[in-house]
Amino acid sequence: MYLYNTLSHQKEEFVPNHPDVVKMYTCGPTVYHYAHIGNLRTYIMEDVLEKYLRYRGYPVKRVMNITDVGHLASDGDTGEDKMLKGAKRENKSVLDIAQFYTDAFFADCKKLNIKRPDVVEPATACIGEYIRIIEKLLDTGYAYLAGGNVYFDTAKLEKYYVFYDHDQEDLAVGVREGVEEDGNKRNKNDFVLWFTKSKFEDQALKWDSPWGVGYPGWHIECSGISMKHLGQDLDLHCGGIDNAFPHHTNEIAQSEAYLGHKWCKYWFHVHHLNTESGKMSKSKGEFLTVSLLEKKGYDPLTYRLFCLQSHYRRNLVFSWENLDNAAAAEERLLSRIAALDPADQSPVDQAALAALQARFTQAMDADLNTSLAVTALYDVLKAKTNDATKLAALADMDRVLSLDLLARAAARRETQETDPEIEGLVAQRTKAKQEKNWAEADRIRDELKARGIVVTDTPQGAKWRRV
Ligand code: AMP
Ligand code: ZN
Repeated sequence: MYLYNTLSHQKEEFVPNHPDVVKMYTCGPTVYHYAHIGNLRTYIMEDVLEKYLRYRGYPVKRVMNITDVGHLASDGDTGEDKMLKGAKRENKSVLDIAQFYTDAFFADCKKLNIKRPDVVEPATACIGEYIRIIEKLLDTGYAYLAGGNVYFDTAKLEKYYVFYDHDQEDLAVGVREGVEEDGNKRNKNDFVLWFTKSKFEDQALKWDSPWGVGYPGWHIECSGISMKHLGQDLDLHCGGIDNAFPHHTNEIAQSEAYLGHKWCKYWFHVHHLNTESGKMSKSKGEFLTVSLLEKKGYDPLTYRLFCLQSHYRRNLVFSWENLDNAAAAEERLLSRIAALDPADQSPVDQAALAALQARFTQAMDADLNTSLAVTALYDVLKAKTNDATKLAALADMDRVLSLDLLARAAARRETQETDPEIEGLVAQRTKAKQEKNWAEADRIRDELKARGIVVTDTPQGAKWRRV
């Protein structure tokens, strides 16, 4: 399997460090607001990567942090703490905000069939880890105290710009963000490991430390949480492309300075989802959510398919028209799957199945080419083989794509058959239920059952199928 590694700027064969575990770390959400569908594009593609590694037989252990402290309004060290901003906006405590938006994030993930990572750790739960790392960085001269804060000294590194070879001036945080520089810093790109003083309003959450009462910087949390759960090396680190600088650059700086050796082998970055008018951003306050998609009548899995139809290393433009195109493609796909016979008793043609799977793995092995993997689904439908084989191939690919293809096709099949007599009985039962005539409703259900019909109540009304 080949993956593009942002660190080497090229596609590389994926060879994990250890045979018994693939250590995968993901930067989690900053929980001061709902996740927008741009954030969720990143989590969908990371979910596909994790599931494909498992599909390929790798034993993955995946860890994700929840940023509930220390992420300031700029990705550098200036601006208000995002959590505090969220708490003020809603007149709640920081902890309440964190809990509410963490739950909301996982509810969105569930709707999008994004698996929960094996370990999910809030940043506020690992303060001791950060303190331990920072103490060693101070001891070894990689960090310094200034104006009450602890900073990482980027001048101590041989190479700081690991992902890009841009001009230092272009990347300097102060210049890039157009924000005031922090006069305590020895070098422009030095970053805060521990705050006891900020120019902005004080943090709500603070902890004791050898340098005074304060709170950790944003970058140290991912190094600390990763080392706590995955040890001294990582196979894969993922995030959105905006995380590459300064967040991941700083994670590498502090982790490798602390460990004294290379830390993470492969860096996987998902490019952005933009709207036609530009970048989608949580801090602007206007953004698209999964709930909004649902309100407009879209199944969240249609958005998942929309994301899968393009490559993760290309920017993707969201528009309602583009989503409608994905919905139309999904409709065609599901109705063709629904036309397959689920009761086909023929044996699965193993050779045909392997050939279909090979198309899928070829696409996915080539730097996770999900759009080609989606066309492999159509190849299955076109293949000259029996329905049992086609259904087996689709189920197999859907372990990774997670579009609920077979279940949704089955739901379609149930509603496709028409039989006026049975529909009449189902309607009578619905009426009896509305009138709270439970005895009559049960009697009709039993009558249908005797005819081999099972009725299921769904949010879209009663559905029936033959058993
Ligand atoms: P945040 O909650 O702001 O920390 O971001 C969560 C994740 O979403 C990070 O991995 C970001 O890199 C990623 N992200 C932010 N904006 C976008 C976007 N417009 N498209 C795709 N991913 C994004
Ligand atoms: Zn991170």
